[in-house]
Amino acid sequence: MARLVLKFGGTSVGDIARIRKVARLVKSQRDEGHEIAVVVSAMSGETNKLVAMAREMAAVPNLREYDAIISTGEQVTVGLLALALQEIGVAAQSFLGWQIPLRTDAQHSNAWIEEVAGEKLSALMQKGTVPVIAGFQGIGPDGSVTTLGRGGSDTTAVAVAAAVKADQCDIYTDVEGVFTTDPRIVETARKLDKISYEEMLELASQGAKVLQTRSVEIAMRYRVRVQVLSSFKSERGTFVVDEGEIMDAKNVSGLAYSKDDAKIQVVGIPHQTGAAAAIFGPLTEANINVDMIVQNVGDSGKANIAFTVPKVDMERSVKILRERQATIGFSDASSDPNVVKVSVVGLGMRNHAGVAQTMFQTLSAKGINIQVISTSEIKISVLIAAEYLELALRALHSAYGLDAEAKAAAA
Ligand code: ASP
Ligand code: MG
Repeated sequence: MARLVLKFGGTSVGDIARIRKVARLVKSQRDEGHEIAVVVSAMSGETNKLVAMAREMAAVPNLREYDAIISTGEQVTVGLLALALQEIGVAAQSFLGWQIPLRTDAQHSNAWIEEVAGEKLSALMQKGTVPVIAGFQGIGPDGSVTTLGRGGSDTTAVAVAAAVKADQCDIYTDVEGVFTTDPRIVETARKLDKISYEEMLELASQGAKVLQTRSVEIAMRYRVRVQVLSSFKSERGTFVVDEGEIMDAKNVSGLAYSKDDAKIQVVGIPHQTGAAAAIFGPLTEANINVDMIVQNVGDSGKANIAFTVPKVDMERSVKILRERQATIGFSDASSDPNVVKVSVVGLGMRNHAGVAQTMFQTLSAKGINIQVISTSEIKISVLIAAEYLELALRALHSAYGLDAEAKAAAA
């Protein structure tokens, strides 16, 4: 017997028939003797509709009211699933964030979870009643409803699992698990049996969309065992676990990509102390998150700096820099939205040289120019022209021996 938190995403609760199917799945788990809590998202497409209505009413909506609106999709699904469970003889009770309570900070639309009270939920689970919990929402310090950022139901599920000390948090979704890369682009991508928290965190933050990044951070901090699996196929999914459980750390476990960044280039900067601070200071003040950076100094003694910012902040970044052109003394600032960031992630990188070299050689053999590079202990990211995304992903996937066929042949 185990204590489980099961999370169902938007497509899994997309209509009445699917919600009934989820109820049967929950019942079968409970009938096996497990103690269950369930977290659900809004029906697929609902949150987008709510966002659109809020934006139609006000171009820049007040975020307290915005949260009051966009949190409602989950209120519908918890009620429906609780009814569906009761209809098949399973005791169930719906919970909104404030009823738990799941407390967050005050950052509306992107709040951080501060505390989840596990007592009420644990007591119900113990006596066989299934708490059906609204994902994505919490209660802020002033008592108003907050939301956790798009995709935030994953984070609710992991935080609840930590609070009730669950043995496992199963994230049911429309894919079969975590893949070596996006199978819609690389046909030979494989489902991973296991991946470490650290690797999953890098993959999620570099663009893999299967789990919200914050959910992985919480799982790692509280050592919550997470499984990502399909709600449509009854197969084992991918386990996100402590790296100690992974016997054969691969040099590279997976590849992620992101189309969310834009490149900014500043050229002809006087090469002197304080130039970088003068460029990045005003961007930081404007809350613009600079990610990858390269600087080079030409023969002229002038420096050029290229870096990435979120695409949504591109225009604003250029404007901020141009306003300071005279003071900083650079000759030009330009932007390019047609770029993608491709990242390779693997624990084995810590002990094996050559992972970066393989990446550079593979891309160069395909004639793909690398514009900016950044690295961490277990990740290398490169920025390339957007048109090369498919080519780069496929070539790298083979180069690191991740292809499904390659594995079968080697076995
Ligand atoms: N319904 C929310 C969204 O669409 C939260 C979630 O699905 O995880 O972002
Ligand atoms: Mg999601």
